[in-house]
Amino acid sequence: MTSTAPLAEVLRQRLAERRERNLYRELKTLAAAPGPQAEVDGVPLVTFSSNDYLGLATHPAVIAAQQAGAELGAGATASHLVNGHLEVHEQLQDRIAGLTGREAALVFSSGYLANVGTICALVGRGDNIISDRLNHASLIDGARLCRAESLRFAHSDLAALERQLQRAQRNRKERGGGNILVAVDGVYSMDGDCAPLREMAQLCREYGAWLMVDEAHGFGVMGSAELPAAGSAAAAGLGQDEAPVLMGTLGKAAGNAGAFVAGSRELVDYLVQFARPYIYTTGMPPAIAAGNIAALDIMQSEPGHRERLRQRIGQFRRRAAELGLPLMPSATAIQPLLLGDEETVVRVAGRLQERGFLVGAIRPPTVPAGTARLRITLSAAHSEKQVEDLLLVLAGALVEYGINGESPGVWS
Ligand code: PMP
Repeated sequence: MTSTAPLAEVLRQRLAERRERNLYRELKTLAAAPGPQAEVDGVPLVTFSSNDYLGLATHPAVIAAQQAGAELGAGATASHLVNGHLEVHEQLQDRIAGLTGREAALVFSSGYLANVGTICALVGRGDNIISDRLNHASLIDGARLCRAESLRFAHSDLAALERQLQRAQRNRKERGGGNILVAVDGVYSMDGDCAPLREMAQLCREYGAWLMVDEAHGFGVMGSAELPAAGSAAAAGLGQDEAPVLMGTLGKAAGNAGAFVAGSRELVDYLVQFARPYIYTTGMPPAIAAGNIAALDIMQSEPGHRERLRQRIGQFRRRAAELGLPLMPSATAIQPLLLGDEETVVRVAGRLQERGFLVGAIRPPTVPAGTARLRITLSAAHSEKQVEDLLLVLAGALVEYGINGESPGVWS
């Protein structure tokens, strides 16, 4: 009988290999709240890495509502379909439906679960799921798990999407049926660019496909004149008919935790029956639901947070361009700087931390090989000075490491 190596030894080898390739992810333990001020190992840092785009994670009214919500019990004590579904969840769902302009909404415990659960509930064997190559991992995992034929297209490439729709249509003819789900991020989490949703919705209509939009980074921060916080689909003028499956998380602009799917009454009723990550997990803690309601109320009643975020984005892009930093084409709160190789990104992020700034060093497999980047995220809670100071330190660090805007090989 051949003996296998002890588990710890195998894992140690694999971890060492990850370290050697500069792909090891450090778990940073923060002492303070996740506002723009944090503390790591006793050192105060300004964070440009959180998704708390509106600064609501530390908003006193949200915290007070969450504390009051704990009176309903520390936990939901069961899954939603058993006894874990409370009035506070219903109130949150009504608020989300109102904010997104949809008939109904369903609250999930996380965005990851919402994406996996929704895709697996909507499509399966004999169907087609079409995804953008840069989709978030949770959409990718949903596509892998659902057993539908999985087709992918080059990032935001409409001609490539159409080719996959044609292929899915051929599959449908051959099989004598089957549905087509097109799943995309509305705002790409590592690039900050927006999907061409209007054109995608038009293609979906032509080919009889359903469009699912992940609003993780759009909800709360963008929208239309009527629905200013609804997300990127609303900003593109898409209603329930054009974007029938809208997913969003409450862990980013709402500054909290949890997620939702919004759409028709039938969609929500259906997901309650068939979305396994909704059915087989403990309901969202009531305090979290109460905190989320307060955050959504603020999104609606205090547009100033969105306006401040817009100003910070404008300032960042203007000054970064003046300083010759390698901006990516993003108009959102996600402003990555593409550095290319993993080692450089780790070194520059390390230098920024020494100078008092926490910025994410994003490497494969989160992004494609050769596109390692600093993921800088802006928040309404940042001051003008904090943004300016970050940019000056960044410009200095890039010069120090011999990186400058005139090196096309690095930037492109
Ligand atoms: N979709 C996208 C585009 C995301 O960026 C994230 C969070 N990283 C998720 C889904 C998952 O959301 P959650 O954090 O609520 O699980």
